[in-house]
Amino acid sequence: MPIMLLSCLCILVLVLPGPCFTAPAFIPEGERSPSTEPQIDLKLATEYLQQYYNLKKEPFGRRKRSWPSFTSKVKDMQIFFGLNTSGVLDSETLEVMRSPRCGVPDVEDYSQNQGTRWNKNIITYSIGRYTRDLPRSTVDSLVESALSVWARASSLTFVRSYTRNADIMVEFVTYEHGDLYPFDGPRGTLAHAFGPGEGIGGDTHFDDAEHWTTGQQGFNLYLVAAHEFGHALGLKHSRNPESLMYPTYNSPRPVNLLSREDVANVNALYGPNRSRPNYLSRYGWSAQHNPWLSGPQFPRLMQNKCAADLTFDAVSTLGDATFFFRETYLWIKHNKQYDIKEGPITNFMPKIETNIDAAFWVPRRSTAYLIHESMFWTVKGSLVKGKPRPLSHFGFPAWVQDVDAAVHIVKTGRTLFFIHDIYWSYNENRRIMDIGYPKYISEDFPGLNTTISAAVHKEGFIYFFVGPQVYKYDYTQKHIVGVEKANTWLGC
Ligand code: ZN
Ligand code: ZN
Repeated sequence: MPIMLLSCLCILVLVLPGPCFTAPAFIPEGERSPSTEPQIDLKLATEYLQQYYNLKKEPFGRRKRSWPSFTSKVKDMQIFFGLNTSGVLDSETLEVMRSPRCGVPDVEDYSQNQGTRWNKNIITYSIGRYTRDLPRSTVDSLVESALSVWARASSLTFVRSYTRNADIMVEFVTYEHGDLYPFDGPRGTLAHAFGPGEGIGGDTHFDDAEHWTTGQQGFNLYLVAAHEFGHALGLKHSRNPESLMYPTYNSPRPVNLLSREDVANVNALYGPNRSRPNYLSRYGWSAQHNPWLSGPQFPRLMQNKCAADLTFDAVSTLGDATFFFRETYLWIKHNKQYDIKEGPITNFMPKIETNIDAAFWVPRRSTAYLIHESMFWTVKGSLVKGKPRPLSHFGFPAWVQDVDAAVHIVKTGRTLFFIHDIYWSYNENRRIMDIGYPKYISEDFPGLNTTISAAVHKEGFIYFFVGPQVYKYDYTQKHIVGVEKANTWLGC
């Protein structure tokens, strides 16, 4: 593993709430002090400081020399946790050291709130190995909710992928699991996440020896996941106990997981969520201090998505989200969330500086194809791959120089390309055009006798965007079953 990734590793610390803390209160302070088992306490403290405070491992017989450094490391740790800075292993200090905790050297990292960042605003995630503590659907929704904590506060959009090369790979694992940071069985280390980067970067591991729950018992997966995803986005631990990124956690916070500091930190990396100004102003967000807002890539004028005659150039699903392209602007609506991300296409896909005429998504390749005039881009995960390629790749004759709309139908494995009043059918499995095409749209899609702006396939229907309207089309019965305004899809 590259050494730079090592520094990104973070592990969540949890201090158990409730009974675990109330019980020792009955024991007089002095009697549960380290003096009862000094050797064990010293061993615990040494290992703790080596692992989390960068205390150098000394060869045997040289411990005496390292003592001043040991004391200063104890002080560092006490400062981090706001304890009495004595440099002595008092009961309070040992109490924190005994708590399940994190692999990141706190003192080294906390001063630098901003870590590395993803150089994009659409982050893909995928869930690999699940825990057996909870139903899969519960894990899915907790992970999604934990990510949406950050999505609501920033310009980020999370798109679920079903491949193993997603930006954030979520895994439930135990003990040695292939990344040099073995888990330790129940309690202790609960989870860790790697900061943004290729390969293991962004990956988030949960110790499956813990008991994962949705409530107050065991460990609350939503809460731990939200904290870990903060690391996966590049955030470091905070010393502020109000922050989600504080390394210890006392009890599930009901509504706002993020403190003002958490919001400021994620905004410093990715910019705020411009579609939710109220949320940000509640946290005293100031646009003046954010280069993302004042920079040329964030024009202050947003497009009015609710304009009566709004049309789209292309509409496509991409993972769990639907992308709406209009000129060089893009709206992204997550299928299960209400907020919509928007901005110039280049904000999300820096390589694409043009409009998009047609777009389609092939789920089994986790790939979207974005067509502009006679060229198309391939978007895998959330990354635009390489250079645009010519449309002739699909087997079009040379005279086809643009496409109005494209839609992929999973059931048939076909992608349909609509051009004026004709359409082609492309076999994605064999990667060739079907014989007998082009055909007239009006012959195979009775009721549609106009140019199509965009098309998308969802839940067994094809939705044809025609001007400011969208037709819900029953592909098997071959008729229109509904009409609505196109921008109702954006909540208008
Ligand atoms: Zn952490
Ligand atoms: Zn791991």
